[in-house]
Amino acid sequence: MDEYQLLADLHEGTARQGPGGETETLLAMNLAGLDSSHPLRIADIGCGTGASSVLLAGKLDAHVVAVDLFAEFLDQLGPRAAAAGVADRITTLACSMDALPFREGEFDVVWSEGAAYCMGFEAAVSAWRRFLKPGGVLAVSEITWLGAARPSEIQEYWEREYPEIDVASAKMGVMERCGYSPEGYFVQPPHCWREHYYRPLERRFDSFLARHGCCGAGEQGGGASQANQVGQGKQAQAVIDAVKAEIALYEQYGAYYGYGFYVGRRL
Ligand code: SAM
Repeated sequence: MDEYQLLADLHEGTARQGPGGETETLLAMNLAGLDSSHPLRIADIGCGTGASSVLLAGKLDAHVVAVDLFAEFLDQLGPRAAAAGVADRITTLACSMDALPFREGEFDVVWSEGAAYCMGFEAAVSAWRRFLKPGGVLAVSEITWLGAARPSEIQEYWEREYPEIDVASAKMGVMERCGYSPEGYFVQPPHCWREHYYRPLERRFDSFLARHGCCGAGEQGGGASQANQVGQGKQAQAVIDAVKAEIALYEQYGAYYGYGFYVGRRL
């Protein structure tokens, strides 16, 4: 397994694969002026196991095309949609967000929570614009500096991890340059990181490490398969160490960055 597959495995079975929350998805829907007064076609890009897709399909008169690169996440979305009674309103599509097969102007809404960074915010909002009808809504959450200054340790960390991180005014400038009118912005509160994302992930650390032969398993004896297992155990431990380091940085410096939710309209 490569690092991406290990990370995906760590996240499988979680309700959300990034910071967010039902209240915040609903707030963004309100900011965007979305209601069930008329039928909508929505693309939810980088949907993971479908927290936002299920909510959008349930609250609106909508058909949602839920897109993710990782088919195993989409497999989990199916039962989740069925349990919420919206299975017939969601179509899943395993596809990379930079190679979407959609038609020009096909959607009323393009939604993406915690995923645009995979392409980079500017490349993503620029590429996805053409899938929206004129006047259509873009709603994207994106990691954001909450003010102009921050300690150098966290500055250097995020510049290494995601050089496109910036302040909200800069992100709105990107939206304007890419042909949108920004209509709303809010910062997701800390419980979106802690209670909805990091704590559920932490509860999975031990079973994840055990599953990947870490911490003693496979360390005795010989042979290629045991050597592979030890290698995978080390990789798995490295994934957990990186996640723990990210969480520790959030606990120390979470006042300086957050997930901003941006709502705009295609001009
Ligand atoms: N939107 C979900 C949520 O908020 O729970 C998932 C957010 S998670 C931080 C990012 C998601 O983007 C993952 O589900 C991941 O599999 C997906 N992803 C990563 N690269 C992608 C790509 N190139 N195309 C489509 N999805 C991608």
